[in-house]
Amino acid sequence: MIKAVLFDMDGVLYDSMPLHIYAWSEVATKYRLNHTPEDFYLFEGRTGGSTLDELFRRTWGRDATDEEKKRIYQEKTELFNQANTGRIMPGAPEVLAEVKAQGIESLVVTGSGQHSLIDKLNQDFPGCFEREKMVTAFDVRYGKPHPEPYLMGLLKAGVEAGEALVIENAPLGVRSAVAAGIFTIAVNTGPLPDKILWDEGARLLFHDMHTLARNFASLIRTI
Ligand code: MG
Repeated sequence: MIKAVLFDMDGVLYDSMPLHIYAWSEVATKYRLNHTPEDFYLFEGRTGGSTLDELFRRTWGRDATDEEKKRIYQEKTELFNQANTGRIMPGAPEVLAEVKAQGIESLVVTGSGQHSLIDKLNQDFPGCFEREKMVTAFDVRYGKPHPEPYLMGLLKAGVEAGEALVIENAPLGVRSAVAAGIFTIAVNTGPLPDKILWDEGARLLFHDMHTLARNFASLIRTI
């Protein structure tokens, strides 16, 4: 019996990943850090500091200093905020409506600390989420791929792992949710091969939110 659906935000509720990739690529180029755009899809879900450590290690053979992390991540955030249009992921409102129609609660579990997106959730998806039940970068000590964010989502929803579903687009997000023991549905809205999401333990996979919405009522009866 499914009682709660835990939604990732970037790449699931908002079509914001191309803007994150743009902002990361700009700062990585500026600071001469080895990178490809695909790296940032693979890193999605990590904290900014952990992403910068990885780029510094592969480029300079050392972690980024706290000062470098602060400066570069701030520049990345500013570029993202300037470019962000707040575009909703096509099909996301339909998925949320289906979840509600089944009498199931929706929560957001995101590694994002982007106030610009978090503040918009209730405006863009009215009546879908309770603010105090959101899990954001500000609530957790360890980000994805650690299970902590999704375990906290279960706690806030007041349900067991077996009573929840996760909707995720990112490999590390799927890993986090699977480690929390939750049935995880991947929606591959980016350019990575499906295999990466299956290999992380996704139990079902869709390529867009419209298809998930159309199949939601029947799939929850089979879980
Ligand atoms: Mg995501």
